[in-house]
Amino acid sequence: QQHLVWFRHDLRLRDNPALSAACLDNEAEVLALWCITPDQWQHHNVSPRQLNYQYDALRVLQQDLRELGIPLLIIESKDYHSLEQDFIRLCAEHKIDKVFYNHQYELNERQRDQRIEALCDQNKIICQGFNDATIFPPGTVLTGQGKMYHVFTPFARAVLKKLVAEEIECSPLPHKRKYPSSVCGSTLRDFSSPEGQYDTTRFPLGHDAALHRLRDFSTHQVEHYADKRDLPADDDTSLLSAALAIGLLSPKQCVKRIVHDYPNVFEQPGGPATWLNELIWRDFYRHLLVSEPQLCRYKPFQTWTDHIQWQNNQQQFTAWCEGNTGFPIVDAGMRQLNKTGWMHNRLRMVCASFLVKDLLIDWRWGERYFSQQLIDGDLAANNGGWQWAASTGTDAAPYFRIFNPTRQGERFDPQGKFIRQWLPELSAVPEKSIHEPWLWADKLKKKLDYARPIVEHRQAREATLRAFEDARKYR
Ligand code: FAD
Repeated sequence: QQHLVWFRHDLRLRDNPALSAACLDNEAEVLALWCITPDQWQHHNVSPRQLNYQYDALRVLQQDLRELGIPLLIIESKDYHSLEQDFIRLCAEHKIDKVFYNHQYELNERQRDQRIEALCDQNKIICQGFNDATIFPPGTVLTGQGKMYHVFTPFARAVLKKLVAEEIECSPLPHKRKYPSSVCGSTLRDFSSPEGQYDTTRFPLGHDAALHRLRDFSTHQVEHYADKRDLPADDDTSLLSAALAIGLLSPKQCVKRIVHDYPNVFEQPGGPATWLNELIWRDFYRHLLVSEPQLCRYKPFQTWTDHIQWQNNQQQFTAWCEGNTGFPIVDAGMRQLNKTGWMHNRLRMVCASFLVKDLLIDWRWGERYFSQQLIDGDLAANNGGWQWAASTGTDAAPYFRIFNPTRQGERFDPQGKFIRQWLPELSAVPEKSIHEPWLWADKLKKKLDYARPIVEHRQAREATLRAFEDARKYR
């Protein structure tokens, strides 16, 4: 018997239900598979940084699998369509009788799996899918009417109730097995690129390092999380999003760790409970992708918002992308993104709100740009975050609540520490003027090598309110 484990965004050995299930039968030979699909990646706007991160993770995984007695095979196909025949050919070549994989919930991936399952069925190959990407599988946290929640708070309450009632089980690490004598693993083509370079000290390399970071964060940082998570200069969040996005870690491992270290997390508010709540947001957006597949097609959750007349000014978009809007907190956030592939959550909200509500640019432009840059790019969380900020989503910020970017800077970076880190051209500006440096420079007739604000916030706010109110007539 030859079993195949198809790795996707689950590049780890621990708590990998597909891998554990494939290894249950000690007699079976187990092979692993990973698919390189460059055109599909491009179509999905996967960032070069995330590709490099995946490549590095795969190299670690390949070695770990070898030690476990499992060769890693690679298929390289242009996209998911051409993958189908290549996949079936590989199964025939290795006489595969069972395929194991963890589900991906994005629409193209689900359609790919359905087509491949049908082909496997024709070829008498059994496929088994598992859930590893969320705490509870989509479709198992529902309202009393059996529907997906459209509001986060009751969803979170339902998840917490389930967590109290059912102990979370992680899948066991498989035992070492005999390396198949007739199969040698594929050579992993280097699909990393120079523009995908990322800081390996910030993003854990391999699944053991990700687990280590989780333990460390839980022991030393999470207790202060509720107080510090909104302050970008403190840089005190877990930085685990990239690892979660490609599955170096599972959300269940995160929950288990927090519950182990803080057994009263369900009763006691504070850092651990707040962090758990963020993990539940992650689940919420994934569950939504399954119940509302149109979200994967760049459709807003609130359909009336498709009637908004966006201004879509290309020059302003470029200024936003480059961090040259003249609003220091926005520019600092965008430069952090461009330079590192990661941005602090508060700033993602501020920068997204600025693009949509100050520049009246279609949120989908921003969603795409973020995805092209982020090392933690994830369709569910990115789409959810953008639709929240744009007021087009479910349980989103109301359209009339518009962040004032200057006030956001004053509130969350009061001394301008973060701004100075990313905008060295403002180093001479005193603390009290850092959020409106031009007022200071003009008053003192100083020169600044920094953009002037590309919009006037109050006017921009009025224009946005009008655009949303006009569109609301279509509700
Ligand atoms: P922590 O604060 O330590 O949180 C722990 C984990 O919870 C994160 O790693 C992440 O997996 C999850 N999480 C936290 N906040 C959210 C949230 N609001 N929504 C969903 N999951 C959350 N997150 C991504 O992983 N990928 C994205 O592409 C992405 N795009 C975003 C776009 C916008 C416009 C916004 C507002 C948010 C986006 N987020 C995204 C959510 C959030 O900003 C990041 O998950 C977080 O900043 C990652 O840093 P961390 O790992 O230190 O998070």
